[in-house]
Amino acid sequence: MSPKEQIQSLRDELREHNFNYYVNDNPTISDFEFDKKLEQLKTLEAAHPEFYDATSPSVRVGGEVTKNFHTVKHINRMYSLDNSYSIDDLRDWETRIKKIVDGDIQYTCELKYDGASISLHYENGKFIQAVTRGDGNQGDEVTANVRTIKSVPLQLKGDDIPKKFEIRGEIVLPWEGFHKMNEEREAQGLDLYRNPRNTASGSLKLQDSAEVAKRPLDCLLYSLAGSNLPVKTQFDSLEYARKWGFKAPKESKLVDSIEEVFEFINHWDVARKELPYETDGVVIKVNSLDQQDELGFTAKAPKWAMAYKFAAEQVSTKLEEITYQVGRTGSITPVANLEAVEISGTTVRRASLHNADQIEKLDIRVGDEVYVEKGGEIIPKIVAVDLSKRPENSVPTVYATHCPECHTELVRSEGDAKHYCPNEMACPPQVKGRIQHFISRKAMDIDGIGSETVDQLVEAGMIHNYADLYDLTVEQVLPLDRMAQKSAENMINGIAASKQVPFERLLFGLGIRYVGETVAKKLAKQYKNIDALLKMPAEPEKNGLDLFADVTSAADKKIEELTAVPEIGESIARSLVEFIQDDYHIALIDRLKTAGLQLALSEEQLEGQTEKLTGKSFVISGVFEMSRNDLKKLVEDNGGKNSSSISSKTDYLIRGDKMGPSKLEKAEKLEITMISEQEFLDMVK
Ligand code: AMP
Ligand code: ZN
Repeated sequence: MSPKEQIQSLRDELREHNFNYYVNDNPTISDFEFDKKLEQLKTLEAAHPEFYDATSPSVRVGGEVTKNFHTVKHINRMYSLDNSYSIDDLRDWETRIKKIVDGDIQYTCELKYDGASISLHYENGKFIQAVTRGDGNQGDEVTANVRTIKSVPLQLKGDDIPKKFEIRGEIVLPWEGFHKMNEEREAQGLDLYRNPRNTASGSLKLQDSAEVAKRPLDCLLYSLAGSNLPVKTQFDSLEYARKWGFKAPKESKLVDSIEEVFEFINHWDVARKELPYETDGVVIKVNSLDQQDELGFTAKAPKWAMAYKFAAEQVSTKLEEITYQVGRTGSITPVANLEAVEISGTTVRRASLHNADQIEKLDIRVGDEVYVEKGGEIIPKIVAVDLSKRPENSVPTVYATHCPECHTELVRSEGDAKHYCPNEMACPPQVKGRIQHFISRKAMDIDGIGSETVDQLVEAGMIHNYADLYDLTVEQVLPLDRMAQKSAENMINGIAASKQVPFERLLFGLGIRYVGETVAKKLAKQYKNIDALLKMPAEPEKNGLDLFADVTSAADKKIEELTAVPEIGESIARSLVEFIQDDYHIALIDRLKTAGLQLALSEEQLEGQTEKLTGKSFVISGVFEMSRNDLKKLVEDNGGKNSSSISSKTDYLIRGDKMGPSKLEKAEKLEITMISEQEFLDMVK
């Protein structure tokens, strides 16, 4: 055999052993034999660097060092999942989706693996890239680290492998490995890892991949993404993934009814305790990909899938003190300070009490023995008080009346669950928090300035609000702690560069209560520039004689105008009007304008946007030449509204191939105008 053939044959053999051991849990040779062959391969490869291959089993030992992880935009967005906590929630979900899809629905039930989401990319059967979920639109490239995970196939096997595709899953740290790692930490006198999930996601961001290689991580896969996939259902995808050499856990089950979904849940609620890895729930997915396509997505999650969360573990402990935290918008959150207690492997000392109503509802008092629960959230919550253990001298909790940071009297507006500190201009956590929000990644994404710098700048009295950022100079910031010429320049350049950030992100950055990323986008699209958004309608004429005079106040008119925008509700509208009626805010925005920030959509963004479909509601059903998402976007870009189900309010049904019979029937009955893809395209041309 030539060295090339020898290398090839060793690689094939080791690949197969890796698969047997790590994916199939069924080793056919001893570890000793395996190591011997691996050494052999490494020696041969070292002697013949010309045969280097990034998918060789020898690369599993790692060695590549990544200083900074690249940000990569996801080709297919990585969505989150909607959660449900009861059988009733699931029934409601089924009712909702049955309104949209025709025919019977099969479900794939899967376990919800609790680790770090990952997207693996393959081309020509070879592993080429791994990206973390990040914010769903973009994540970090962690290829070198993921390559060391033994159950991730570097070279696929079997047939029907798409030329290029993506597979998603979860990097987990099974219990056994987690405990072993902690035993070693303990022996070395180091702090213990808190739970497998954090340890798994932390591992992905280690700089030295050789360190990652030492960690007993596992990769469990659950879905395919890409075009030209040879599958028609979710369950098929799992089977294909297995055939190609991926670890797609066998617990997954295809069922014909929601009743069977409940059986699956009940079974695993108990049986999960025997699993080698942590699971916090079940994921239920509509099996047919066509049906999934019909259902589509909300802003955050697929409508065709639902996570069911198992009831979280509860423990009891003592409430020592209630403190209050001030958020960036001035919202006050009461925090329970607890006697330290262990829940699902993590030590808990604090829990959120949400708001005054919650405290009242639970009648929770200092000194009480309370039940604490840790669900999926990072911050545990208090679910109940053990009244039988209440101390005799206990006194009812009186909610804070003044801000713990600036001592301003708190306010609570009608209909709001939370108290607020109204001292927006001078309450330190608010001042800092607003600026930190402004510079954050999803808002202005200003390079060269972090939260700590903001703290310093505020404490030094150099800035009081985000508009002040644009007046800073290199000379001014140089005297700050740990600031060198280079970093000062970076900071000032980063601030200057942010003047080009698009309008909708600036709008989000302003930190208007209830105006999140999605709402900011909607507003930007609707109003196109800040002046239109800020413009208040005229106040009614004061004329005591005319009984029919329009007495609606300008604020109410503006609220009406705002709530007419799709997806803008009453509380968002109110908060916006409050914001724009405040002279302080107007002054800030004026300064941003003078500084040259983007306070309007750019020409580019405006292009292709028309009012042609304003006021028209569309339902898109069936299969089309264009992608369904592109069609939806065209509807929106031209001012129309998309809706998922047919009702008397629907103006047009865009009808594709293979549209379901019951939908058709409904459209006919309601006499909805049906148009073809081409007819629609002519409408917006
Ligand atoms: P959440 O983080 O609560 O929004 O839940 C969504 C995450 O659950 C996804 O990003 C996945 O990483 C994870 N997940 C775990 N198991 C599954 C599964 N079987 N199917 C889909 N997602 C899963
Ligand atoms: Zn305050």
